[in-house]
Amino acid sequence: MQATLTFLGSGTSMGVPTLGCDCAVCTSAHIAGSPNRRTRPSVMITYAGHNVIIDTGQDFHAQAVRENIQTVDAVLYTHGHADHVLGMDDLRPLSFHNPAGLPLYADDATSDVIERIFEYTFRKVDRYPTSARVIIHRQPVTAGAEIALFGAKLIRVPVTHGRNTIAGYRFGAAAYLTDMSDIPAESLPLLRGLDILVLDALRREPHPSHSHLARSIELVEVIAPRRAFFTHVSHDLDHETTNAALPAHIRLAQDGLKLEFDL
Ligand SMILES: [Zn+2]
Ligand SMILES: [Zn+2]
Ligand SMILES: [Zn+2]
Repeated sequence: MQATLTFLGSGTSMGVPTLGCDCAVCTSAHIAGSPNRRTRPSVMITYAGHNVIIDTGQDFHAQAVRENIQTVDAVLYTHGHADHVLGMDDLRPLSFHNPAGLPLYADDATSDVIERIFEYTFRKVDRYPTSARVIIHRQPVTAGAEIALFGAKLIRVPVTHGRNTIAGYRFGAAAYLTDMSDIPAESLPLLRGLDILVLDALRREPHPSHSHLARSIELVEVIAPRRAFFTHVSHDLDHETTNAALPAHIRLAQDGLKLEFDL
């Protein structure tokens, strides 16, 4: 099945431009249309008339306006950090169209965070009447656990994110591994034969909970996808000059980038 992967956001948790920073990358990112302007990380998978989103960060509303997203059929979450969950409330108007409730898929740790932050949404009594009509489907953390959605399978690929293990996802010939400092051995067999690999590459210097540029290039060599795109990118990496120095099959992602792949 033909599918499209859209980068709703490709930036790190602080976004680019980073508030209060006047570095060259942040300065250029103030210009509309600059590839250095990076909103918080999220992707949308579109297939067979359905839109499935991975993570809703603080920029979800602006991203949905930019991409003219009229419907969302399901949301998968990777983990409970602010840049991945805080936009959940902006699903409200999109959830009203779904009589059964818009399904959210998350592991227990992430579900607990979402339920705590948006307590008024999940209250059994005295629920705020216009809160999001969402249903959390709690998922196992097992490597390879499958979520079946609209004729496709989305597979959990555990990744190491600092001291935590969080969800990456594989779907058909593509995999999305945001927020990872390493990939556990058990996940490598789930990443064979990829067309598209999306990997975290925060900056040039190592970081305790995110992969850095040189490490992500090494991981691309190990996993050997046909092409790779780096996301969760900070103001440390200028789009044009970084791309010019990368191997031809590896690119920095950018907001609004759309890729066709086989699901
Ligand atoms: Zn993040
Ligand atoms: Zn900066
Ligand atoms: Zn994170």
